[in-house]
Amino acid sequence: MSRYAQVAVDLAAEGADRLFTYLVPAAMELVPGNWVQVPFGPRQVIGCYIAPVERPPAGVQIKAISALITDLPPLPPDLIELARWVADRYLTPFAAALRLLIPAAARRRQVREKLVAALELAVPTATALAVADKLEQQRAGLRARVLRLVAKHDSGPLPMHVIAAELGQHARTVVGRLVADGLLHRRELGVRRDPLAGRVAVATPPPVLTAGQAAALRAVEQVLDQPGARLPVLLHGVTGSGKTEVYLQSIARVLARGRQAIVLVPEIALTPQTVARFRARFGEQVAVLHSALSEGERFDEWIRIRQANVQIVVGARSAVFAPCPDPGLIVLDEEHEGTYKQADMAPAYHAREVAEERCRRSGALLLLGSATPAVETYWRTEQADVLRVELPERVDGRALPPVQVVDMREELRAFNRSIFSQALQSEIRQTLADGEQAILFLNRRGYNTFVLCRSCGEAVQCPHCAVALTYHLPAPGHPQPERLECHYCNHLAPVPRICPGCKSKHIRYLGAGTERVEDELRRLFPELRVLRMDVDTTRRKGAHAEILDAFGRGEADVLIGTQMVAKGLDFGRVTLVGVILADTTLNLPDFRSAERTFQLVTQVAGRAGRGERPGRVVVQTYQPEHPAISSAARHDYHAFFREHIEWRRAMGYPPFSEYIRVLLVGQDQAQVAETAAAVAERVSAVSGGFPGEVIGPMAAPLARLRGQHRHHVLLQGTERAAMVPVLWRALRGAAKWKRHKEVRLSVDVGPYSIL
Ligand code: ADP
Ligand code: ZN
Ligand code: ZN
Repeated sequence: MSRYAQVAVDLAAEGADRLFTYLVPAAMELVPGNWVQVPFGPRQVIGCYIAPVERPPAGVQIKAISALITDLPPLPPDLIELARWVADRYLTPFAAALRLLIPAAARRRQVREKLVAALELAVPTATALAVADKLEQQRAGLRARVLRLVAKHDSGPLPMHVIAAELGQHARTVVGRLVADGLLHRRELGVRRDPLAGRVAVATPPPVLTAGQAAALRAVEQVLDQPGARLPVLLHGVTGSGKTEVYLQSIARVLARGRQAIVLVPEIALTPQTVARFRARFGEQVAVLHSALSEGERFDEWIRIRQANVQIVVGARSAVFAPCPDPGLIVLDEEHEGTYKQADMAPAYHAREVAEERCRRSGALLLLGSATPAVETYWRTEQADVLRVELPERVDGRALPPVQVVDMREELRAFNRSIFSQALQSEIRQTLADGEQAILFLNRRGYNTFVLCRSCGEAVQCPHCAVALTYHLPAPGHPQPERLECHYCNHLAPVPRICPGCKSKHIRYLGAGTERVEDELRRLFPELRVLRMDVDTTRRKGAHAEILDAFGRGEADVLIGTQMVAKGLDFGRVTLVGVILADTTLNLPDFRSAERTFQLVTQVAGRAGRGERPGRVVVQTYQPEHPAISSAARHDYHAFFREHIEWRRAMGYPPFSEYIRVLLVGQDQAQVAETAAAVAERVSAVSGGFPGEVIGPMAAPLARLRGQHRHHVLLQGTERAAMVPVLWRALRGAAKWKRHKEVRLSVDVGPYSIL
């Protein structure tokens, strides 16, 4: 083997984003993917061994690898290649892409092992034994026995639990004394956790498939039977059509072929029912990667997957990198969800795109499922680039709930100033009388969404962000009084009695959020039992599940919530869904806002009438004629798609073009603007020209966030594959051309949001 190795150093530092060459010590056996400890400057860091090199680069001093990390299994070569693809596609350093492949915490030894207290002698053995005689004479027999036991144990420190097992639990009480007397040292000892401890197997048999499900499954099987590369499949099924059952049985087919399956869900905490169904069917073959896992538990799950001890992985976005040895199927449930796009951190990858690439490389099937597919995905089915399978009907022939659209302008004209229309009020009354349940959806939290001065017309702004502050009521059982809160940076401010701008006393509170919905609902229907689910009521770990369980047990009549209640909930007793205001997401300066509104309204409407009793939906809006709202009211995806895709075509938006966003963020506005201008200039001046349009530089719609100014340059073109390398050339060597070091530059290829 070559004596030199290329190592991807796991460091976020600028300049550490390339491979470094190290000397391999003579006795060290390495396979690509091994984790090693290497000197880097004055520090020791961990890195991943990528490949051997024949000759070290000239003129640099080559250091040797310090150690092979034996308790981290090597990364599989196919995942290393996938990381390389991610790095190229999303314009990020290879090392940053490699970080996606192992749990963050696995870099620390303490997480890879469970630490237990252990004891060793602090004095020579002879001294310890002499003291033990002496202690026996002083009737301190237990202390003497502990000392003897530790002295007798000659292979390193002795774990406390071993001592307790040998001499009884009382032994724990005398250890402190022995340590204080300088006879014993206390140490932390790493032991491997038992990842299989405490797991129970359950298995519910599959139900008889509906005709639609059976046809969908046959289509999936046909694709699975094809040799070689296969097209992705889109399972377009209305809400309640039983898509999950199709996933479950497709997985069973893949397992029967000896391969594994990865199931991605938008957000684990919000989809406990879906996750439970995988566990119920496949029991301990399922690893669930969820955010409530401790770092150690996450690492253990990762090891179980890597060692093929589990066949199915259910997780959010990052589970697309789960180290299954031979995945045969990747499912993306609710494939349209924005949470599949990583936006806040490099690499800004999209799990759908990565999943497709991983499937392509490993000959696996990508199964996308949604009632409201992303228009980009549906467009691809029309190009015969993705295979479309439809489930147009609900299980058991249950009807989709009829939707009544209420024009809130009419309510105002009829002098109804409540946030509840007459129609919605009477439906709630009916639901209550029938002993059924309702879900009320409003995509804004807080009580009032802004506080406005009537004299000068200014809304009270966050001092750190270019957004209005939200008014919150005092939270019950919470020390916080009523307050203004910034939903972007969490800045808290007292409620102003006079306008901070013009000192006027005429202050108005406008715009309703979920707190106001709850408050007004309790006033209108004092006997109603209400639960609210939004960021404010779910900060505590496990709070999501508690609220949903309580609602499922019938302990409340109404569940009020933000988009948290729009996803995947399946409660048979819910017969009424009310959308308090459908317009909240409609007017954002973003080309996806109409699509997002259509998806939200359709999805939340789909929570009604999933059980025996038929459901109904009331959608309140100021824009009843908007196609996103009128087609959602008819559950008519196709109508929405037809309309919307023509608009996208006319505007040249995706899928008819590709966007790349270069975002500049910094403390000093002038520096940020100057850097954005430099980016635009460099991209425009690239030799041969940029293959597309350079839009900007300009301030981002959200021009200030957490005290930082934000400017961006948008690049729009038809060929992403052509744009990325050109941009790479233009931005390379930032250390030289970027005059202001403090201004941070990030690239988002295919941004989900451009706010
Ligand atoms: P979707 O994900 O398409 O909205 P679900 O998978 O949640 O729909 O299914 C809706 C409901 O129908 C669930 O309660 C599920 O258990 C039930 N269900 C699914 N398939 C069948 C079937 N073949 N027979 C009976 N019930 C089914
Ligand atoms: Zn004012
Ligand atoms: Zn703020």
